[in-house]
Amino acid sequence: MKILISDPFSKELPDMLKEFGEVTDDKSQLPDADILLVRSATKPNKEYIDSAPNLKLIIRGGVGIDNIDVEYAKSKNIVVRNTPEASSVAVAELVITHMLAIQHNLIRAHNTTKNGEWIKKQLKGNELYRKTLGLIGIGRIAREVFKRAKVFEMNIIACDPYVCYDECKEVNMDELYETSDFISLHVPLTDETREMINKDSIAKMKDGVIIINTARGKLINEADLAEALKSGKVKYAGLDVYESEPPVGSPLLEVDNVLLTPHLGAQTHENMDRIGEQVVDIIREFVQG
Ligand code: NAD
Repeated sequence: MKILISDPFSKELPDMLKEFGEVTDDKSQLPDADILLVRSATKPNKEYIDSAPNLKLIIRGGVGIDNIDVEYAKSKNIVVRNTPEASSVAVAELVITHMLAIQHNLIRAHNTTKNGEWIKKQLKGNELYRKTLGLIGIGRIAREVFKRAKVFEMNIIACDPYVCYDECKEVNMDELYETSDFISLHVPLTDETREMINKDSIAKMKDGVIIINTARGKLINEADLAEALKSGKVKYAGLDVYESEPPVGSPLLEVDNVLLTPHLGAQTHENMDRIGEQVVDIIREFVQG
C-alpha cells in the first residue's frame, strides 16, 4: 500500500502512517499511490485522478471538498473522505480574533505604536458587548463561534434553512441582514451560496455592518464588497478566504478598512494534530474494510 502525502500535514503524520505501508511526499509517485492525502492546494480533478490508476482512497485533511472532483472519483470507485470535525475550534477562534481586532483597531494600534507614534485618541474602539452577530449557517464552526460570542455577551442570531440549533435564535435571511452589526459566513460553497454577499444583499444590511468571512471566498462578490467598503456602507471586513488565493489583483487589496489573513482558519498546531489522528482512523477503518 502506497500513501502519498501531497500537501502539508503534521510532521508526525508520516511516522503515524508507517503501519499501513510505504509513505511518501514525492508527487512523482502519484501513478503508484493507493491512498492520497490532500488539503486545499492539491486539486484532484479528472486529469489528476486519471493519472493515478491505483487510487482507492482520497482523504482531504479539513472540511471543504470543493477542490476534489468527488463525482468523478466515485465513478472510478475511489472513496473520498474528509476530517470535518477537526478544524471547528481553530476557525471559530479566528472569527473572534477578527471581530476583536477590528473593534479595537488592533492592527493600526500596533503599527503606529511600533512606528513611534502615540495616536491613542484616534484609536477609540468599539466593543462586542451587546452587538448583534448574525451567523449565516449554523453548522459545526458556527456553533463554536456561537459559544465563544456568547461569552462576550453578544446577541446572536442565525439563519440556516437546513438544520436546527435550539440554543440560537433563528431568523430568516432578510431579518439577519437587517439587524446584524456583524455578519459571519459559515456555509459551504454551493450554487445557492455562491456570491450570496453581493450588492443586493449588502443593500439590505445595516449601515456600518462588519462582515467576517472564514468560509469560502466565492461566497462574496469581491467587487461589490470593495465598493461597499469604500462608501462606508460596510464599515469593515475581516477576510480569511478569497475568490482566488492568493488574492492577486483583488479590489479588496485597494481598500483600507479590511483585515486580511491568508486562509489561516485551520492553521493551528493543535488542529494539524487532530487532522493527523483522524486521517489515521480513516485509513485504519478503510483497510479493515
Ligand atoms: P458544516 O457543514 O458543519 O456547516 C455548514 C452549514 O451551512 C450547515 O448547517 C448547512 O445546513 C448550512 N447551509 C448550507 N447552505 C445554506 C444556505 N444557503 N443558507 C444558510 N445555511 C446554509 O460546515 P463547517 O464545518 O461549519 O464549515 C463551514 C465553512 O467553513 C465551509 O465553507 C468550510 O469549507 C469552511 N472552512 C474554512 C476553513 C478555513 O481555513 N478558513 C477551515 C474549515 C472550514
